[in-house]
Amino acid sequence: MARKFFVGGNFKMNGTRKDLKAIVDNLNNAQLDPNAEVVIAPPALYLDFVKQNLQKPNVEVAAQNVFNKPNGAFTGEISATQLLDLGVKWVILGHSERRNELGESDEFIASKTKYALDNGISVIWCCGESKDTRQAGETIKFVENQLAALAKEINDWKNVVIAYEPIWAIGTGLVATKEQAQEVHAAIRSWLKQNVSDKVAEETRILYGGSVNAKNCKDLAKEQDIDGFLVGGASLKPEFVDIINANL
Ligand code: PGA
Repeated sequence: MARKFFVGGNFKMNGTRKDLKAIVDNLNNAQLDPNAEVVIAPPALYLDFVKQNLQKPNVEVAAQNVFNKPNGAFTGEISATQLLDLGVKWVILGHSERRNELGESDEFIASKTKYALDNGISVIWCCGESKDTRQAGETIKFVENQLAALAKEINDWKNVVIAYEPIWAIGTGLVATKEQAQEVHAAIRSWLKQNVSDKVAEETRILYGGSVNAKNCKDLAKEQDIDGFLVGGASLKPEFVDIINANL
């Protein structure tokens, strides 16, 4: 089965209604590759606003977080029920900014991933190494450990998209080379084959994230195991359309 090209836009903590309206209008007016699946993740406060303004049937909206409990006394958190109430069917989990700035552990992320999946929300699950880990030659082992923590919790991978995002490439302009990205993507696929199943290895989309832009996306997209992108900074700009259309 061919893996459908996937592009996620992670707006992070950026934008007000005015900015987000401009981003959404740009997408509404663009010709987007009909073979690309697109998901944009505005700040939670604006999920409904963005959803109301989107006019592209093949662009979905994602949250940047969800909690692992149904409801209750969890100040500041968002539940799966609340996301579904707005028609939000995707969430980004395990982003390095939440792992590092907010101290989210592999186990906590895995439990949130399981909870989201059990509630019918698809997950863009992120992994990736720091510069020190790469320099120590431990990238693949590190990413495999992150995967192992996830695999302990979940059995059903069909609604999981993996985003490989080397931390040193995020927001730095230092994009991984296509060889560096392909090497890790192939290792992730091979880990899935050995530890989950041939089918999951074959069907799971593995995105690259970290300083993707209109210039570098086409070359990266040609790599065998790169099935799309998770885009931060450039998803706020008109060039996001060029990234979605990387295969055209
Ligand atoms: P960047 O961010 O494209 O700005 O490097 C990617 C991400 O954090 O998902």
